[in-house]
Amino acid sequence: MICKPDAVERGLVGEILSRFEQKGLKLVAAELRVLDAETLSRHYEEHVGKPFYDDLVGFMSRSPAMTLVLEGPDDTYAMVRTMMGATNPAVSPPGTIRGDLGTEMTENLVHGSDSNESAEREIGIFFPGLA
Ligand code: ATP
Ligand code: MG
Repeated sequence: MICKPDAVERGLVGEILSRFEQKGLKLVAAELRVLDAETLSRHYEEHVGKPFYDDLVGFMSRSPAMTLVLEGPDDTYAMVRTMMGATNPAVSPPGTIRGDLGTEMTENLVHGSDSNESAEREIGIFFPGLA
């Protein structure tokens, strides 16, 4: 998962990470870094060329993001996505990270891999040393 630049700027990394830790997921890797356009084009390859893509890259690279790997039972990615809520924080239910902490689609605080395959691919991009 990624705590996006808005989450780092607003000082919400602790709050977000705390939710996953309390849930019982294990933090196995973390790095605070400014994501560059090339890395983001690999990460968001399915969105390259879409109307919102340039704004998305501008947002994701404007200040440091915290990239993380969380470990847990089968399909942990799905648990993480459920806890994050809907893409648009404005309609994301209370109790979710986006529902509790955000209001705008363009500043939605977190990214979570959307399948086991995506998780493996994205871990390869951000933590190539991790098996
Ligand atoms: P993420 O991949 O960041 O975890 P997601 O899987 O919920 O979010 P995606 O459809 O993969 O949503 O979109 C990636 C990101 O691009 C979203 O988090 C959002 O910030 C932005 N985005 C998606 N659709 C739009 C849109 N129609 N207009 C503006 N921004 C959008
Ligand atoms: Mg996505």
